[in-house]
Amino acid sequence: MAYREVASINLARLLREGGTARASGVVLEAFSVGQERFPLEGEASWRVAVSSVGGEEYWLSGEVEGVALMECRRCLKPTPTRVHAHFQHLLRYQPGLEELSFHEEGEDEYYAFGEPDLDLLPFLTEAFVTELPYTVLCEEGCKGLCPVCGADRNRVDCGHEVEAHHPLLGLKNLLPEL
Ligand SMILES: [Zn+2]
Ligand SMILES: [Zn+2]
Repeated sequence: MAYREVASINLARLLREGGTARASGVVLEAFSVGQERFPLEGEASWRVAVSSVGGEEYWLSGEVEGVALMECRRCLKPTPTRVHAHFQHLLRYQPGLEELSFHEEGEDEYYAFGEPDLDLLPFLTEAFVTELPYTVLCEEGCKGLCPVCGADRNRVDCGHEVEAHHPLLGLKNLLPEL
């Protein structure tokens, strides 16, 4: 979990003096949400800026870009899927707060943080995972797995008559006069 250490930004100076703080880095191997893992091809790169907007409020904006490996919906092959996500959030500094927490007050949404070292991984993960397509195909004409024996029909011809299972053929037999 070494990447956890680099996906953060130190805001000590920003909290003291105002202005803007910037950071960039990479996330290795995968993003995780609970038990679910979203593997990466190579590393995802990110950069963020945090600007003082008055009082205890700060504006976080950033982007994360990488190639997710998603399973082809027909043959399950890991399929490289490029993702480039942008995000913006309002932050509020509440000294002493131990964990990042989300707040909603009417129209206002913000994240409260209490440590100058702000963990960016939750923001990067949310932005990246939200941007993933619902399903992917490894290629336009992917033939998928054989429903009889499970073979990858892009690579082997297992000889099973998959066409015989086509629902329209069954329909034809029901209506022979057509
Ligand atoms: Zn496929
Ligand atoms: Zn087969």
